[in-house]
Amino acid sequence: MTRDPRFDILFEPVRIGPVTAPNRFYQVPHCTGMGNIHPHTLAAMRGVKAEGGWGVVNTEYCSIHPSSDDTHAPYASLWDDGDVRNLAAMTEAVHAHGSLAGVELWHGGQRSSNVLTREAPLAPDSMMVELNPWQSRRMDRQDIANLRDWHRAAARRAIAAGFDIVYVYAAHTYLVTQFLDASTNRRTDEYGGDAAARARLYLELLEDTREVLGDRAALATRIEVYDESGAGREERSALLARAAAFVDLFDVTVPDYGHEMGASRFVREATLEDHVAHVRGLTGKPVVSVGRFTSPETMLSQVRRGVLDLVGAARPSIADPFLPAKIREGRMDDIRECIGCNICYAHDGLGAPIRCTQNPTMGEEWRRGWHPEKAPAVTGRADPVLVVGAGPAGLEAALTLGRRGIPVLLAEAANEPGGRVTLEASLPGLGEWARVRDWRVHQIGKLDNVELFPASEMDRAAVLETGVRHVLVATGSLWRADGRGRSHPTGVAGYEDPRTLTPDRILRGARPAGPVVVFDDEGYHIAAGIAGMLAAEGLEVTFVTAGKVAAEWTILTTEQAGIQAGLMERGVRIVTSTTVGGLVPGAAELVCAFTGRVSRIACEGFVPVTSREPRDGLWTALQDAGLATLERIGDARAPGLIAHAVHDGHRAARAYLAPDGEDIIRRERVVIGG
Ligand code: ADP
Ligand code: SF4
Repeated sequence: MTRDPRFDILFEPVRIGPVTAPNRFYQVPHCTGMGNIHPHTLAAMRGVKAEGGWGVVNTEYCSIHPSSDDTHAPYASLWDDGDVRNLAAMTEAVHAHGSLAGVELWHGGQRSSNVLTREAPLAPDSMMVELNPWQSRRMDRQDIANLRDWHRAAARRAIAAGFDIVYVYAAHTYLVTQFLDASTNRRTDEYGGDAAARARLYLELLEDTREVLGDRAALATRIEVYDESGAGREERSALLARAAAFVDLFDVTVPDYGHEMGASRFVREATLEDHVAHVRGLTGKPVVSVGRFTSPETMLSQVRRGVLDLVGAARPSIADPFLPAKIREGRMDDIRECIGCNICYAHDGLGAPIRCTQNPTMGEEWRRGWHPEKAPAVTGRADPVLVVGAGPAGLEAALTLGRRGIPVLLAEAANEPGGRVTLEASLPGLGEWARVRDWRVHQIGKLDNVELFPASEMDRAAVLETGVRHVLVATGSLWRADGRGRSHPTGVAGYEDPRTLTPDRILRGARPAGPVVVFDDEGYHIAAGIAGMLAAEGLEVTFVTAGKVAAEWTILTTEQAGIQAGLMERGVRIVTSTTVGGLVPGAAELVCAFTGRVSRIACEGFVPVTSREPRDGLWTALQDAGLATLERIGDARAPGLIAHAVHDGHRAARAYLAPDGEDIIRRERVVIGG
């Protein structure tokens, strides 16, 4: 396939100070949950991005000194020569594909709790650190001199590690921002006061770094175009213009992380444009910014109109490390578009290597040797596989099996494929989630050896009738109506009531007659989504949660504040730290989690969101059927995130006919004497 020449501009080299990016695809610094704990995992993952055509591949935030320690979140570091060796593995992996490697030097200031290193956090003032009940140390002149020395030393190590681009990081509320921002910088010495004084440290770091780098590497800076309060754009513009003397590349963003990193529920593609479009003209230097770009047309438009020189991406490069290669080859329809669910980011927050709903190989490049575009082809003729259920697990399994050259029959009870993805994508704001289904259905459509049979509910007899002797059962799960879950492990007798409607029934169109109580004992997004949807339809809704806030787990995906605000704006009453003890005539009984006090609330409809029952009856029924292989996958195996289902489908498809020992899971750990 050849690409439309209109897109050639995206493949032009871009000069960044002393180095040249081979094209305009720029993977901005992004968290990986790997950091300095998983150097092999990190190097392999970044290397795959370069292989997929990203012209520049950056690290995550990279600590310059033990006084910037974000434990338990994994971060990169350049504290010593060991760090240099580990990060050199990444730069080598990136250089092997002709791409540039960048490093984002970082000091967290009062955002670093330093729980591992026990160093006193440093900041312009002595203020509360994030999350923990202790404070930073107000930096004196010696501390500032030390910081500059550490930054210079880290820049030298960055060069030693082979980096081509070195950042001075002045965004995301970390130390440099704490100096720039008047609300956090209350100093009265030469580093505080007016805008020029607050910018002194930033400009010094730029000058120091420039001096260290010389023409061996480019100097990039990540900076916001106005301050935390949303004001000060003119002041910041003046600073950007001054900084341009030292800077080779501006990586610009806004202070609202919930916007920059916005989930698709709230934020669409390319919404930073109005905020950053002035920077190129202002500085005369190349500019990169993000916008969850997945559409080649949007990328093209931003470059053509001079908004950006380089197309920045974190999540789109996670969902599809081969996005640039696909554009280069004119295979636009093969791009696996990010759905904006932020499950990647959530796992960094959980202290684990990132994973991706769309890309099951993310984070598995070294650990399991998985490649995002290639799965080992079978040699010779392979027996066919019957996959029952075309939700995310079944679709991914069928696609990966098919790509390996294995004949697949994919049977789906419903008239359309998609399973839970189709249901969940119908909730307010989640339309992009349907990409999980649509991309797979489209890709399966390109394979001659995979046949989809809709409207084909399979029982034991139907399975045996196919004559296929290898079966993957991907029949999903159903929300329980009996209340079993975290708060009530044995269920609640009082939920057995005609007013009780499971989430599955609501998502398929059932509606309560009057005031409805939605009980969230799970904490992710389903209960809140249903409550918001029913309220928007005009029902009186009370959202009862065992958690401390609505949809507590979505704190990890950056969605919680927006979800709670949305419920409040729709008039949903939110009752926290409370469970539903049962239904009585005309009402639901609420139980306070702390005092056990019982109260009643009017209830003509009740939606318990507690836990799911794996739908594994078919798998059980086939146990003694004499099949050659039989496995349940996805939610039928263990209900979880859509990401779990996709990953499990992918795993099962790779494991089929794989030689023994192929599925080795490697570990990164320190071995004594090793
Ligand atoms: P997962 O997340 O594990 O993929 P889903 O619940 O999304 O699970 O999808 C399961 C799919 O399996 C649904 O589309 C459902 O209609 C289908 N299904 C369930 N039981 C059968 C069956 N007996 N025969 C065919 N399809 C089935
Ligand atoms: Fe996009 Fe979700 Fe994958 Fe993150 S996990 S890259 S948000 S699809």
